Amino acid sequence: MTLVSLAAVLVVAGFVGVVVATSGSSSDRLVVYTARSHYGEEQPFKDFAADTDTKLTLFGGEASELYERIKSEGDDTRADVLITVDAANLWRATEAGLLEKVDDPELERNVPAGLRDPGDHWFGLTVRARTIMRSTERVGPEEVTTYAGLGDPRWKGRLCLRSGTSDYNVSFVADRIAKDGREETKAMLERWMANDPEILGSDVDVLDAIADGSCDVGLTNSYYLGRELEEDPDFPVAPVWADQNGRGTHVNLSGLGVVKGTDQRAKAIELMQYLTEPKQQELFAHNNFEFAADPDVRPAEEIAQFGTFKRDPIDVQGAGEHLEDALQLMEEVGWD
Ligand code: FE
Repeated sequence: MTLVSLAAVLVVAGFVGVVVATSGSSSDRLVVYTARSHYGEEQPFKDFAADTDTKLTLFGGEASELYERIKSEGDDTRADVLITVDAANLWRATEAGLLEKVDDPELERNVPAGLRDPGDHWFGLTVRARTIMRSTERVGPEEVTTYAGLGDPRWKGRLCLRSGTSDYNVSFVADRIAKDGREETKAMLERWMANDPEILGSDVDVLDAIADGSCDVGLTNSYYLGRELEEDPDFPVAPVWADQNGRGTHVNLSGLGVVKGTDQRAKAIELMQYLTEPKQQELFAHNNFEFAADPDVRPAEEIAQFGTFKRDPIDVQGAGEHLEDALQLMEEVGWD
C-alpha cells in the first residue's frame, strides 16, 4: 500500500478533501468530515490508515460548515464520521439526529464520562482551554486574572479578539449564558466592547498582534500559543489561566461521532477507538499542544511550563441550548 501524504487535494468551495492513504478493497473506505483539518496533516490519521489498511478520506472545513453540510446532504452524505473542534457542533449534530448511538465499552474506557455524550452519540477526542493571553513584555501576570477583567478600562485600545462569529467564541459565550445568565454575560461583553477591541480573523492573528505590540491582551485557545513557542521559545506571549478563584478556565473539546446511515459503522467505531487510545491521545496532545481527554497524559512542555490549572469544562447541553442566544447577544453588543 502507498501513503500519499496530502497528494490528492480537491478544493470545492472551501471544502478540502485529502486522501490520507489508499489500499485495495472498497470495503475498507472511510470518509471523515473533520474540522481538525486546520491543524494540518495529523499523524494519528495517517497511522490509522496505514495500520488498518484503510482508504481514509478527510474532508475539512469549519465545524459549523461541516455540520450544515451533513444536514443538507441527508441520507446521501458520504460522511461516515464527523469530527468537530468544539462541543457546540457535536450537540447540534446530535439534536438534529445526524449521529448514531455508539454503545462501546472500549470507547467508554478511553474517554472519561465528563467528556462524552451521556446518550452515547459523541465522544471527546481532545480538550482545549480558551483563556487570556498577555504580552510578557508589557503586562504582568497579575494584571488581569479573570475573563471579566478584560473589561477593565485599563485595556482600552489594548485588547485583541477573534471575530465574534468564530465557533470558539460562540461556544464560550453560550457556556457563560448557561452558567451566569444572559444579563451578567451581556454586561461583561459590553465592557469588553467598550474597550474598542481590535477584531482579528484567527487565534493566531491575535497572538501575533500581542507579540508585535499592536495589542497587549487577548483571548485564544492555548494550543495556538504552544505552536508559536515551538517555533520560537522566546515568543513574548504567556497564558493567564483565567478565573482560578472562580469556576476555572473555560475548556472546550474536539470530539467525534458516527454519522447516521453510514454503511461503515464497524470501521467508523474502529477509527474512534484508535484515536482515543492513550498512544494517539499523546500524539494529539504533544503534536498540537492540546490536552488529552485522559487527564493523566502530560501536555507538551511548551504548555506544561505554565503549570496546571482548574478547568471549567463546557456545559455541552446548557451551552448547546444557548447557541442561538449567544449569536444574538454578540450581535447586540457589537462583537462581530
Ligand atoms: Fe483550532
